[in-house]
Amino acid sequence: MGKLSGPTDPTRDAGWAEPKPRKGFFTDTSICIGCKACEVACKEWNRNPRDGDLELLGSSYDNTGALGASTWRHVAFIEQGRDRIAEARESGRALIDLGMPALPGAPERPDVTPPDTPEFRWLMSSDVCKHCTHAGCLDVCPTGALFRTEFGTVVVQDDVCNGCGTCVAGCPFGVVERRSDGTYATPAQRPDRPADKPVTGVAQKCTLCYDRLVDDQIPACAKTCPTTSIKFGDHDDLVVTARDRVAQLHARGLTEARLYGANEHDGVGGTGSIFLLLDEPEVYGLPPDPRVCTADLPQMFKRAAMAAAGMAAAAALAFWKGR
Ligand code: SF4
Ligand code: SF4
Ligand code: SF4
Repeated sequence: MGKLSGPTDPTRDAGWAEPKPRKGFFTDTSICIGCKACEVACKEWNRNPRDGDLELLGSSYDNTGALGASTWRHVAFIEQGRDRIAEARESGRALIDLGMPALPGAPERPDVTPPDTPEFRWLMSSDVCKHCTHAGCLDVCPTGALFRTEFGTVVVQDDVCNGCGTCVAGCPFGVVERRSDGTYATPAQRPDRPADKPVTGVAQKCTLCYDRLVDDQIPACAKTCPTTSIKFGDHDDLVVTARDRVAQLHARGLTEARLYGANEHDGVGGTGSIFLLLDEPEVYGLPPDPRVCTADLPQMFKRAAMAAAGMAAAAALAFWKGR
């Protein structure tokens, strides 16, 4: 068994003798225009069905709402007024004071004089599975339907999944969901199973286009994004790119810019999909401090062993006194 928490190479932990460089995404929300081309490309490539009957949510111009069994990329639209923008800038400035990275060659303390705060802005952000270093979904799956690929990504095998839903509870990001409409993900890849044969309740989520990666193709969503908001590549390079980008924005006074998922010391050991956000994670519906459910296992086992030893000692004492 590999490490249960902290920084590690997830592919080697999974037992791949000759792992490929870990792949991932850097989604730079500061240049997303909300066109939703990534959402559409994902649905097209994976032949995922549409969500519902195209009803309007009434709460946002984003009518998809959230990631789900049929929506493996989701672009959120978040409207913000002047006060909230100022608060985002202040909370980002506090992070800089805590030691956020600076641009290489830049002065120690960049000039963070903020530009004029606009009256209004849209935050557009394309969310996806995080392909966690320590993936709760994978760790708790009882059938082995979820596996770690040679690229360090996390994929569900829908023909192994029994629909128990344990992974749904195991994901700290609320990403994985079971199908409820009797369809499954990729009928084109499974010609042995007739398309009209339903497989109910299987867990579904982004595969980081595993079927494309093995053919040296880049994921459909990243290939489609017209602004390069979704960048795909080697995880280590993406972290460097993301740190440089956030430092560039800070140097322009945009102190609200911050990274999400790039800290390998966080509760999931960092994520394969990292994000540049322009406000606090909660604003985007992301947990501020995600933690993999298996991180506390060693301590739980230790306490259980101490409790068992205590009970055994008490039983032995009672037996001895009763003689
Ligand atoms: S985000 Fe959730 S579904 Fe994706 S790898 Fe992490 S735990 Fe699994
Ligand atoms: S990597 Fe592939 S499966 Fe994942 S969101 Fe992008 S297009 Fe969809
Ligand atoms: S395709 Fe790119 S710009 Fe368009 S919504 Fe997706 S991430 Fe944003």
